[in-house]
Amino acid sequence: MLKVLRSIVQEVNRAKNLDRALNIIVRRVKSTLQVDVCSIYLTDHESGELELMASEGLAADAVHQVRLSMNEGLVGYVAQRAELLNLEEATQHRRYRYFPETGEEQYHSFLGVPIINHRDTLGVLVVQQKAAQCFLEDTVTLLVTLAAQLAGAIALAEAVGSIDITPSQHAISRPLNGIPSAPGVGIGTVRVVHSYADINSIPDKLVENVAAEKARFMQAVVAVKSDIQQMLNMMSDRLPAEEIALFDAYRMMLEGDSITGAVCDGIAAGNWAPGALREVISSHIRLFDEMEDSYLRQRIEDVRDLGQRILIQLEQGQEDKRDYPPNTILVGEEITATMLAEVPSQQITGIVAVRGSNASHAAILARALGLPAVLGVKKLPLLQMDGLPIIIDGYTGNLYIKPTEQVKQEFERLQTEEMALSAELAALSDQPAVTPDGVKIDLYANTGLQSDVNPSLECGAEGIGLYRTEFPFLVRERFPSEEEQRKIYHHVLSSFAPRPVTVRTLDIGGDKMLSYFPIEEENPALGWRGIRVTLDHPEIFLVQIRAMLRANQGLNNLRLLLPMVSTMAEIEDALKLIKRAHQSLIEEGKAPVMPPVGVMIEVPSMLFQIGRLAGRVDFISIGSNDLTQYLMAVDRNNSRVAELYDPLNPAVICALKQLIEQAEIEQLPLSICGEMAGDPAAVIILLGLGMPTLSMSAPNLPRTKWVIRNISQQRAREALKKVLEMEDAQSIRRYLNKILEQEGVGGLLRVGK
Ligand code: PEP
Ligand code: MG
Repeated sequence: MLKVLRSIVQEVNRAKNLDRALNIIVRRVKSTLQVDVCSIYLTDHESGELELMASEGLAADAVHQVRLSMNEGLVGYVAQRAELLNLEEATQHRRYRYFPETGEEQYHSFLGVPIINHRDTLGVLVVQQKAAQCFLEDTVTLLVTLAAQLAGAIALAEAVGSIDITPSQHAISRPLNGIPSAPGVGIGTVRVVHSYADINSIPDKLVENVAAEKARFMQAVVAVKSDIQQMLNMMSDRLPAEEIALFDAYRMMLEGDSITGAVCDGIAAGNWAPGALREVISSHIRLFDEMEDSYLRQRIEDVRDLGQRILIQLEQGQEDKRDYPPNTILVGEEITATMLAEVPSQQITGIVAVRGSNASHAAILARALGLPAVLGVKKLPLLQMDGLPIIIDGYTGNLYIKPTEQVKQEFERLQTEEMALSAELAALSDQPAVTPDGVKIDLYANTGLQSDVNPSLECGAEGIGLYRTEFPFLVRERFPSEEEQRKIYHHVLSSFAPRPVTVRTLDIGGDKMLSYFPIEEENPALGWRGIRVTLDHPEIFLVQIRAMLRANQGLNNLRLLLPMVSTMAEIEDALKLIKRAHQSLIEEGKAPVMPPVGVMIEVPSMLFQIGRLAGRVDFISIGSNDLTQYLMAVDRNNSRVAELYDPLNPAVICALKQLIEQAEIEQLPLSICGEMAGDPAAVIILLGLGMPTLSMSAPNLPRTKWVIRNISQQRAREALKKVLEMEDAQSIRRYLNKILEQEGVGGLLRVGK
């Protein structure tokens, strides 16, 4: 049964539009369960009514005609209660309502299960039988499982509607929504980026020169054929006959029309070769998967392998040729630092991804680059949106694919206002960050990319509060050498000297993976990351520390920061290695200075050991991104639980309060470098708590300064007192946003002024 379920879900996922998806469901469910009727009703979110969207068994005329409210009929009853209903005789239920146009009087038994996606009742899946008897447990559980699995696909098809890659197609009226992850507005053209290793992630793309594209495809086919022949020549004397037959099968598949011809047809219809190939390979796999013959089913792997081989040929050398339109909005399942690095910086205007959340590193990168970002967009039609015009609103998380002229004009107006506001804020760069009642706050910048050193200087940062060294590691294909690292660190240190620069040791693991040092774990956020990795690899740690100490020579503005520390032993071990690196440089006659060493407070265990830190380290820096993640047990990258992730949660605020009090008792210099420091509402809390130093991405710095210069510490303390009585992050945020509006800095919360 599992196989049937999987194949139904796969077929639905591949459907090009909602109607087709629903028709597949009713047809396949009716035949699999051998019932007389299968129908789907979907909720119309505007009217709140349920509409019969597809049926196998009820009168065809009734489809789209039958509508009922939530408190009408059995279907309404199932939707209203979000609970299944299994009846032997439907007519005897008090909520039964007869719809003559359906012709359902001949059916007696009724089984309805709600289709629910993230607490949202999308509709009801119904099966009916002529015989008056309750449905068996097997049928019930199968329908429940199917409804749960299909909910996501239905939600996607419903939200997206039918997106055609032809430019003439109508605009999509309702915006899609994701998690607002970096402020700003982006108006541009979608460029879908995908993982080149995976044929299933290849998007459709409109091709202009069909003949050239066909020729490119045929060239790839010839190359694969010759590869296969070469392999065969090399191994024919060593291979048994049945393995040789496999090579023959490959050759035949390539020579026949079923793959090559079908891909050419796809290209002729306007799709580029990789997109047409994906379509053909997946329909072959589907076909084989449905076959009873196990030998034929095993051919699935061969088809997949063949597809992959052709794809590799098609893509060879294409990386360099990848073109990015002006005002590219980079869209993907996931956006990595490497994908971002490939787009010329003047051409990119925004980032959109299915995965990720406002605390994931893609969001942090976007903020560092001043780009709007919307992540965690679950209903993104990735395969069909390359090249389409799009508007993204990084404040609300709304996406407008193929926006209407009206929407476009409105956003262009707002974008102009936004630019005017940015210019006003930029003028604050040489003004001090002092509250109206005279409290000075030190504002530092977070960096990690070479390209954000200058913006950090220009925004008036008093130093670097966090330099994330992993970014230079992420964009390479091997570990950078000591000399390479020294140069990178020297560039930042010298750009800011004599202002302090806090350089963090390598913090990989979690959502920051190096392609050349893969870490595969079931639960990476709780696994081998940050200092845990580098202490286990002293050869990597020592090279990095030596590079930092050497970069600091003659400048002496380096501060060293250790990430993801959870025990005192880790600090002791790290300090020993730092001293060893220092000593080795002395022995080489380099006379390095020992910099101040600090730790990040991002694991809850450290909240209870502040007393032990005094005397061991010189300063502490709060990593509120991870601290929130671990206090709340919410993966910061998981869009499914993103609503639970908010540093304004009362528990996080209490932890910060306690931390600041402890640090004061221990006289440990303290700062915060998590994204919360650049979040206007959170800045009020930090001000009220008496946080002396805030570090944030450069584009957020003038915004934060604006808040500080407009809200007195007295006002912030009063707000904090109120907030400490509140029970949830949503109320706290609403309350703080109101204060921002009242104090005249509400422009930070939305697009425009
Ligand atoms: C943090 O966790 O708050 C932090 C600054 O580190 P990162 O975001 O790089 O994990
Ligand atoms: Mg962290």
